[in-house]
Amino acid sequence: MAAAGVELDTPLAVLLGGRAAGPYRTAFGHETVADLLAHYPRRYAQRGELTAISELPVGDDVTIVAEVLQVRSRAMKQRHGSIVEARISDGKGILTLTFFNQKWRADQLRPGLRGMFAGKVTDYHGTLQLTHPEYELFDQDDERATASPEVAARFAQQPIPIYPATASLTSMKIRKLIGEVLDQVTDAPDPVPASVAGERRLLSFRRALELIHRPEVDADWRRARDTLRFQEAFVLQAALLLQRQRARAMPTTPRLADDDGYLTAFDAALPFTLTDDQVAVGAEITRDLASIEPMNRLVQGEVGSGKTVVALRGMLAVADSGGQSALLAPTEVLAAQHLRSIVRALGPDLSAELMPTLLTGQLTAAERKKALLRIVTGQARIVVGTHALIGDAVEFFDLGLVVVDEQHRFGVDQREALRRKGATPPHVLVLTATPIPRTVAMTVFGDLDISTIAQLPAGRQGIESFVVPLADHPRWERRVWERAAEEIAAGHQVFVVCPAISADTTEEADAGGPDPAETHDARPPASVEAISAAARVDPALAGARIGVLHGRMNSDEKDAVMGAFAAGELDLLVATTVIEVGVDVPNATAMIVFDADRFGVSQLHQLRGRVGRGSAAGLCLFVTNAEAGSLARERVDAVAATLDGFELAQVDLDLRREGDVLGATQSGGRSSLRLVRVARDGELIGQARSVAAQVLEDDPTLDGAPALAAAIERRLTGTTADYISRA
Ligand code: ADP
Ligand code: MG
Repeated sequence: MAAAGVELDTPLAVLLGGRAAGPYRTAFGHETVADLLAHYPRRYAQRGELTAISELPVGDDVTIVAEVLQVRSRAMKQRHGSIVEARISDGKGILTLTFFNQKWRADQLRPGLRGMFAGKVTDYHGTLQLTHPEYELFDQDDERATASPEVAARFAQQPIPIYPATASLTSMKIRKLIGEVLDQVTDAPDPVPASVAGERRLLSFRRALELIHRPEVDADWRRARDTLRFQEAFVLQAALLLQRQRARAMPTTPRLADDDGYLTAFDAALPFTLTDDQVAVGAEITRDLASIEPMNRLVQGEVGSGKTVVALRGMLAVADSGGQSALLAPTEVLAAQHLRSIVRALGPDLSAELMPTLLTGQLTAAERKKALLRIVTGQARIVVGTHALIGDAVEFFDLGLVVVDEQHRFGVDQREALRRKGATPPHVLVLTATPIPRTVAMTVFGDLDISTIAQLPAGRQGIESFVVPLADHPRWERRVWERAAEEIAAGHQVFVVCPAISADTTEEADAGGPDPAETHDARPPASVEAISAAARVDPALAGARIGVLHGRMNSDEKDAVMGAFAAGELDLLVATTVIEVGVDVPNATAMIVFDADRFGVSQLHQLRGRVGRGSAAGLCLFVTNAEAGSLARERVDAVAATLDGFELAQVDLDLRREGDVLGATQSGGRSSLRLVRVARDGELIGQARSVAAQVLEDDPTLDGAPALAAAIERRLTGTTADYISRA
């Protein structure tokens, strides 16, 4: 290894050579010393502890602490060569270690010694074994073990870091390398200002790295972790605030509504009164649009709270100023629907003038050419589309505002690509119905301003939700169809949602859905095919007009079905989650979700939001086979129990599986938050944010804070962007 002068930004390949560094890059994305040192232990073992052998999962890579019971060496029966078998124990179970042609192991692994053993657990004729494990014996080469009783006791209690590891990069190897690197890193400049560190009684960065990787006692790593956790939150917040500051530094064109322009005409014709929240958020948007700082605002509000109307008003203000707006929707179905509802909301006169234009990937060549022409000439004041809008061929005459519907389907990169389409950076408005707890908003959307529409328009009747547990009551499936028939008899319409298209497909849109491993459900998922067939033959639904909608249909077919349903020509629509976001059919009063446990919390909440949008009450049935008490069932029960999206967002965070003791995933890559947990660390994040804001206010260019600037640079290299786009 190279000599002195090792710094955090020293590439591992320079320090170790490409051959040694390669595996760390492949396995963990480590490029630099800083990356390696941020590979924190996921837990700490103790020399005194023993790992329960009976609980070891076959097939997993494990690191365990155990005692050698017995060793024997013998010649192999069938082949030439020797075999060493050692039996190790936790006092109850026994595990065999096997080594081929390594006789000298028998001298090392002496009965009575304790150590750490790592390898993949296999089951060999009913005995658990590790073949050619790596190991480290505790008491052997350390004089502390045999020194005075106090020293020996301390040694026995010294926490041993266990790292996220792979089969070839074992925890022990990683520990050894980190130790060697730490010995050479004499200085780690602290990104947290000294005054703040003092106030919060934080360790220095270098000391914290030392104690998280080489603690003497448990209290050491706890203090180190507190320091590093604050640092992580602080650097992330500073990075986000800096990004925001940079975005704002590029002046844009102010967009002002005209007193007797499109917006005024629209407002005068509006068939309802805006809610107070709509008015307030509308005012925030108007103010942002009128500024030379580009707007960067997130509007969050329940489904049906009227976000689209608010966004449309913003687009009209931009049209008044002569500019264009682009509305970006996550799917073709939604883009088409947005266009239809915008045309309807504008009425024939305004539509003729503003020429709302659709641009998706499925237009014919002629349609596409026409649309592109309207866009580049500026005739189309309102353009609606999918990500096809981001394509290079699409040129705007004067793009003033980008509205992104449902942020969680769009990456930051895409947002950025659209942003670059204007002569000056366009204003950006992001709409989301996925409620975001304040802490997440701060962490993930720290670069956006946030507006909330909390009220629903008056006259909404609310939604009743029920769980239909088929595991306990298989016959209730009939009852589900009877309830659907009652809604239809009352002149309403019904949505039915299934996780799959046909029995042989997996989920069509599983974004936000639970990890399949969590459902522990071996049955094939309920499919549009099977459920629509069941509905068609169910006597309760005799005479009902039933349609299907899923992602394997082409966009004409999809549009035709959605159009027919919106026009009331279909009574019941069996669909996949294509209908999840934004679909607006006020006459639809019931939402029936089959295999509800196969959807995520926010997906279920979104689906439920499709009903109860008109003046009639909504009904939502979550049909599930999940056993009461299972995690899958708990999720469904949670959604049924409340309509409060903000509460559900919290539940979602709480139920989501998170990493080990330190909150890192087993092989947490470069991009993840390692120590900060959004669900738990809200207060810390808030404090870190205000400290970061203060630092940036005093020193906007961070000239006086090179360590912070460097830490931000490290974070922004593919990191924050990744994290945000995964939100
Ligand atoms: P969101 O986009 O938040 O889901 P929309 O803007 O699509 O909500 O509005 C849902 C429905 O409610 C639409 O049919 C819309 O016309 C209607 N709506 C919006 N605002 C109001 C209001 N203030 N009063 C009555 N109806 C409203
Ligand atoms: Mg909407």
